[in-house]
Amino acid sequence: MSQQILIIEDEPDIAESLRYNFERENYKVLIAESGEKGLRLSLDEHTSPDLIILDLMLPGMSGLELCRRLRREPETRRTPIIMLTAKVTESDKITGLEMGADDYIVKPFSVKEVVARVRAVLRRSDSGSIPRYEDDKLSIDFEDMRVVCSGNDVKLTRKEFALLTNLAKNAGRVATRQNLLDNVWGYSYFGDTRTLDVHIRRLRQKLGDCGNCIETVVGIGYRFIGMK
Ligand code: CA
Repeated sequence: MSQQILIIEDEPDIAESLRYNFERENYKVLIAESGEKGLRLSLDEHTSPDLIILDLMLPGMSGLELCRRLRREPETRRTPIIMLTAKVTESDKITGLEMGADDYIVKPFSVKEVVARVRAVLRRSDSGSIPRYEDDKLSIDFEDMRVVCSGNDVKLTRKEFALLTNLAKNAGRVATRQNLLDNVWGYSYFGDTRTLDVHIRRLRQKLGDCGNCIETVVGIGYRFIGMK
């Protein structure tokens, strides 16, 4: 069955060009021109989407407010959200990611890029329960805590493994420094984010040939991209 994408965007040209390209890829597409309509379609079981593309600048309810609402509702708590934003400041990106968006795309964007990101996010949400990550070079067994790079075992501390797992389970998605600190060090962590950067550096060193599997997203955090 084809997956359904809800596009919440008030600019008809952008919405229609996304629709055209997604339909060509065999996705079903719904468009909402306002946050209120987007929320209604998201919560209705007959139209509930597999993924939401959400423009930040909407008339009425803002994209950020809607994102916060969607994350509070049980029906949409886990639905992937990709934000579209014309704003490019880092604090806007961080706010969006911390509000619960899975990824963001800055306008003007190429439609091809949006389609590729959507595919990656949907693949990830499908494989949420798979107990391992594997590509040509690197494998990570989340349950046995085993990491192998180019056939060699990589010995990691518990913290390093937790950090790697946290990133790998969200492959392709930007993790903010604060999200990583919260998830790996716990919500009580108020220390400075250099601790995290030091751990990442050590993790990359230990991964050796596979150290490039973690990408730095300047000013924001890190992203696991694997070794393909
Ligand atoms: Ca808009």
